Amino acid sequence: MSATSGDAQVSHVALLPSAGMGHLTPFLRLASTLASHGCRVTFIAIHPTVSSAESLHLSALFSTYPQIHPLEFPLLHLDAMDAYKLADPFYLHCESIRRSAHLLLPLLTSLSPPLSSFIVDISLASAFIPIANKLDIPSYILFTSSATMLTLFAYLPGLIADAKRIDDVAIPGMQPLPASMIPPALHDPTNLFTKQFIENGRALLQAKAILVNTFESLEADAVAALNGGAVVRGLPPVVAIGPLHQPAARPSGSPGRTFAWLDAQPARSVVYVSFGSRTALSRAQIKELGVGLERSGCRFLWVVKSKIVDREDGEGLEELVGNGLLERGRGRGKGLVVKGWVDQNEVLGHGAVGGFVSHCGWNSVVEAAACGVRILAWPRGADQRVNASLVERSGLGVWAREWGWDGEEGAEVVRGEEIGQRVRELLGDTHVGESVARVREEALRASGVGGSSYEGLADLIEKWRA
Ligand code: UDP
Ligand code: UDP
Repeated sequence: MSATSGDAQVSHVALLPSAGMGHLTPFLRLASTLASHGCRVTFIAIHPTVSSAESLHLSALFSTYPQIHPLEFPLLHLDAMDAYKLADPFYLHCESIRRSAHLLLPLLTSLSPPLSSFIVDISLASAFIPIANKLDIPSYILFTSSATMLTLFAYLPGLIADAKRIDDVAIPGMQPLPASMIPPALHDPTNLFTKQFIENGRALLQAKAILVNTFESLEADAVAALNGGAVVRGLPPVVAIGPLHQPAARPSGSPGRTFAWLDAQPARSVVYVSFGSRTALSRAQIKELGVGLERSGCRFLWVVKSKIVDREDGEGLEELVGNGLLERGRGRGKGLVVKGWVDQNEVLGHGAVGGFVSHCGWNSVVEAAACGVRILAWPRGADQRVNASLVERSGLGVWAREWGWDGEEGAEVVRGEEIGQRVRELLGDTHVGESVARVREEALRASGVGGSSYEGLADLIEKWRA
């Protein structure tokens, strides 16, 4: 189903992201990429958003790309949701989007020209594919984590049917996945997220294809196992389309101070420390991290985050990390500590940055790969251990395996001394330096014209035009 503009067939694609910057980011990138390929893009903007970062990035997208059309999607207000008592506001919001799915039907019906495809976030798939089906619009899923994580997503619904509790998982075609690496919520079958995970895992089969922001050489085993039918029979094609490029549209007013400071540092000398858009560290861990960065003797750019949602993160840096550290950083010029949003992709692309202490959210991993920045993986929860193991295997970095994650039994605050040592080792590791450079070349080759990711997406766009 495609529209005709003059002689050319124009494909009209609607995109529906879920809550949180980890989900919005790949959709923003996909939207601008599709627009640059001549697609008409309708971007479904959920209202309200959880974080200010989401609102600011949406506004920037719409004001920069007139060919990307916003479709505002107001959510139902669901009081009953409080009953879930989930600590994480992003997962609650995701559930509220899922329950508002029926409200999208009239909005999609009113679109003109009619849609050629509907691309939905994996965490919303089972709720929204039936809506697109009612309108005969082909559905595609954007999986917002790694292809390796997708193997678990696809495999789990079959496994969970006979198991009460998930143990180590042996996914055909993949290395065994120890229970300790599986997202913690999945160990509780009554958890709302586990239910969503299973339902969305089943919904994979209803999509025309599954898009992943990865590239084939980074996860060759996972892509082959998924597409070869080893993981689940009848799975639609899995198409690697990454690394997706950052759109030109970015919120204005990003702190110039950070980049001015980076400009003054020697090449590849700085370790960048950030745990993504929604992972807060405990105060005790923040203190130790500060000690560790100073002990490392390396230059550092540290983004401190003490609350999950940015709107609530009002505490001053002095209180969180202490005045001494800030002053010594300023005095010696070796460390910059910031709070609030920084343009991470731009930081990673800056020549002064040589290492990244990362929680291994998938977007962060792919950005580091594309920029050739080595990672010290410090996963904090969710899919991050799966991603961290991939970081290690691919040569993109090292994984501090012995450091526990949030809420894990026996997990202790990681001491500054240990952190300092690992950071120093990371920057001095010539072996990792070589392998990261190779990963970067492969990433650039895949996403450049003629590369596997570029062609994978171009083939889909061609199909939507036909
Ligand atoms: N990000 C950023 N600046 C920040 C925090 C995060 O640009 O201060 C971006 C980061 O580059 C990535 C996304 O937000 O694209 C976070 O996604 P990721 O999957 O890495 O982790 P999550 O935040 O979902 O845990
Ligand atoms: N997850 C989890 N606990 C939760 C919610 C999610 O362990 O309470 C896991 C889930 O299994 C999924 C992963 O976290 O595989 C990533 O979650 P999501 O897709 O929401 O990404 P995020 O928003 O963390 O970037």
